[in-house]
Amino acid sequence: MLKIAIAGVAGRMGQNLLRAAEQHDQVEVIAGSERESSSFIGVDLGELIHTEPKQRVVEKDLNKALDQVDVIIDFTSPQVTLDNLALCKEHNKGMVIGTTGFSDQQLEMIEEFAQYIPVVLAPNYSVGVNLLFKLLEQAAKVIGEESDIEIIEAHHRHKVDAPSGTALGMGHAIANAMGNKLDDVAVYAREGITGERSKDEIGFATLRAGDIVGEHTALFADIGERIEITHKASDRMTFAKGAIRAARWLEHKEAGLYSMQDVLGL
Ligand code: NAD
Repeated sequence: MLKIAIAGVAGRMGQNLLRAAEQHDQVEVIAGSERESSSFIGVDLGELIHTEPKQRVVEKDLNKALDQVDVIIDFTSPQVTLDNLALCKEHNKGMVIGTTGFSDQQLEMIEEFAQYIPVVLAPNYSVGVNLLFKLLEQAAKVIGEESDIEIIEAHHRHKVDAPSGTALGMGHAIANAMGNKLDDVAVYAREGITGERSKDEIGFATLRAGDIVGEHTALFADIGERIEITHKASDRMTFAKGAIRAARWLEHKEAGLYSMQDVLGL
């Protein structure tokens, strides 16, 4: 039985992680945390997802529980995740990170923590999106040079970072496959007299509206034809199940920074 703790347990992803763990007979949620000011502090974890009481309540941090836990799953915000990584290092526990929106400096800090503990970091835990990354590499190698490449993403109105971590992951997969660095070719916004599109650029467009769970398209357009590769998530359970799969995979791993591609053996 894998014993997990969930940081951000009352959030959109936190609740889906609780449900995904509930459906898994090899996984038990030992603890869940929320921000100190949350009205969910002290609420039974079962009540959060309308099931029977678990006799475990939402805590304001994971300090007390960490020694009984195998892996922590964290879908919160960048600074909270970094604070939890420090805790994990102290208690020698692995972490599955779902949070997106890290700065380059914060990503370097995650790499440093991963020298001491095993960490999975993925902008998207859906199996379909990780397969999409592979398809994009292939498309970039075959038609990337002669195509104009654009990435379009859409998410719900509450999302705070843009472009999405998944869109950036798609950009990295395409740029790397073509021997480029995303930072050198990315165009994140266009406004006014922008001039013509340059050949090498990868453009990003972002939509924020309603309750869209997550939609991503990569467009490879030449004169006379274009290919669009699209993934649409319609339920957050797909991310939650993937994160649980990553936690099970991580349990006996050595320290290191792993991706969902590693988890899936892609
Ligand atoms: P959310 O706002 O619904 O949930 C985040 C939760 O973290 C909130 O309930 C918040 O109160 C809680 N929180 C804040 N401070 C905390 C603290 N100190 N300790 C514990 N909990 C704290 O957001 P969400 O939609 O669940 O997304 C969370 C993150 O996961 C975002 O960065 C989002 O982009 C990312 N995300 C990643 C994937 C993926 O597959 N990698 C999928 C969906 C969302």
